[in-house]
Amino acid sequence: MTLEIRQLTRRFGAFVALDRVSLDVAPGELVALLGPSGSGKSTLLRILAGLDAPDQGSVLRDGEDLLAHDASRRGVGLVFQHYALFAHMTVFENVAFGLRVRRRALRPGRQAIRQRVLALLERMQLAEYAARYPSQLSGGQRQRVALARALAVEPAMLLLDEPFGALDQQVRVSLRGWLRDLQRSLGLTTLMVTHDQEEALQMADRVVVMHEGRVAQVGRPDAIYDVPASPFVHGFVGRGT
Ligand code: ADP
Ligand code: MG
Repeated sequence: MTLEIRQLTRRFGAFVALDRVSLDVAPGELVALLGPSGSGKSTLLRILAGLDAPDQGSVLRDGEDLLAHDASRRGVGLVFQHYALFAHMTVFENVAFGLRVRRRALRPGRQAIRQRVLALLERMQLAEYAARYPSQLSGGQRQRVALARALAVEPAMLLLDEPFGALDQQVRVSLRGWLRDLQRSLGLTTLMVTHDQEEALQMADRVVVMHEGRVAQVGRPDAIYDVPASPFVHGFVGRGT
């Protein structure tokens, strides 16, 4: 699906957290939102997810007004840095949750849910952990479960806010390639927030550099790196002479 973000503005009192942000995302594209803390990355993602609303601007998904739908109807899969799994549920139950709470008309049958969750766990290399509880998993395994839970409802787009932020460097690096392969094979339109420039440059089809609520530059990773549009982008992303 395509996403057309037009002139999104979000104020908190006198403070402008998002300042007329516009962005087009193509089907199957992975776009990284890169920028320092406080630059508005999470605010943009929260608005797309339906957890917050803009003061101005519009978002079209495949040409339709996305903001008119409430969060549960937007078809987004969400993974946040500290996106808590349900501690009292097994891995299987966590992943099945989004399907089980669907309205009756949209809810698959018990067997269909079971098959779908088991197939997904298999694909995510989590099959052997199905009966475990989150406390019995490593941080990297937990984030894979969070991703499986987001994917279980077959979202039209994936929104990731620092999905590996809490993990140590070695786990981060291995999950990067794994997530990228998965996202590509599903053809899932994805927006991923990160403050890690290496992560953005490595994983993304295009990078959006954010600065003080504005888009400082949009481009392919090599273009952002080689031809920064401003001293800020140069300092944040570039070779930092
Ligand atoms: P990032 O994810 O890039 O670190 P955020 O989008 O979380 O940045 O925040 C952007 C700015 O908006 C920050 O200065 C933050 O303090 C402010 N902000 C975010 N949410 C709120 C809120 N609910 N109330 C007041 N200020 C907020
Ligand atoms: Mg944030």
